[in-house]
Amino acid sequence: MGEVRLYMFQTGTLKCKYHDIYLNQGEGRDWEIPVPFYVVDHPRGLIVIDGGTPVECATDPHGHWGATADFFVPVLDEKDGCVAQMQAAGLDTSRVTHVVLSHLHLDHVGAVGRFPGARHVVQRTEMDYARSPDWFQVGAYIQSDINRAGVDWFFLEDSWGDFYDLLGDGTITLIRSPGHTVGHQSILVKTAHQNVLLAVDAADTLDHWEEKALPGALHSAVDAVRSVRKLRAVQENTGALVVAGHDPEQWAAMKRAPAYY
Ligand SMILES: [Zn+2]
Repeated sequence: MGEVRLYMFQTGTLKCKYHDIYLNQGEGRDWEIPVPFYVVDHPRGLIVIDGGTPVECATDPHGHWGATADFFVPVLDEKDGCVAQMQAAGLDTSRVTHVVLSHLHLDHVGAVGRFPGARHVVQRTEMDYARSPDWFQVGAYIQSDINRAGVDWFFLEDSWGDFYDLLGDGTITLIRSPGHTVGHQSILVKTAHQNVLLAVDAADTLDHWEEKALPGALHSAVDAVRSVRKLRAVQENTGALVVAGHDPEQWAAMKRAPAYY
């Protein structure tokens, strides 16, 4: 331990349509995206970010996701679940102190309720919306995941501002970045070696980051592009490596656990 490290993992892929990622593009053609999650190893403990697709989807996708599994098809094995992968990488999962949720879409909540005693950190606006979504978002939030029993939730209030220093030492900063969802947040991690900005779905591809295309899944297009502007300013100030949320090309070049940043 001793130094801050960032590990990158992947819970398989999601089969979807190109237009789910690129607004009004692709003419209905199929697409497949990686589903990453991240773990920060900090002297105070392990911080899991998102956790990817829940492991139940490896064996019973329709039982877990219902009809959503017809058009967002999860592709993963049981060994791809977040707990199993962390253990395979040699991380002691009893050290997990926090689970940070960028947002509560179905492919990001794989860690919820899997680490006893961990504090789960999410924007309050995201949880409020996830529990009563509008019709077109109903399938994106799986109530059985976000309402698991015995979870210690910690809600970040809008009035606290756009930046939240998770551990009080500047190593992990949660940055409000709404647009993809109403209460989305991105994560700036300062490791012993470099700064990494996990945009997550505030920029699910580098084309969104570079302002070449609008994303396909949107709560608010205007908020989404303004959040990218804000995150680009953060990147300029920190020199951080920017990691898009579901970019097949960029993700293929990332170091995977047990390697780390
Ligand atoms: Zn999402």
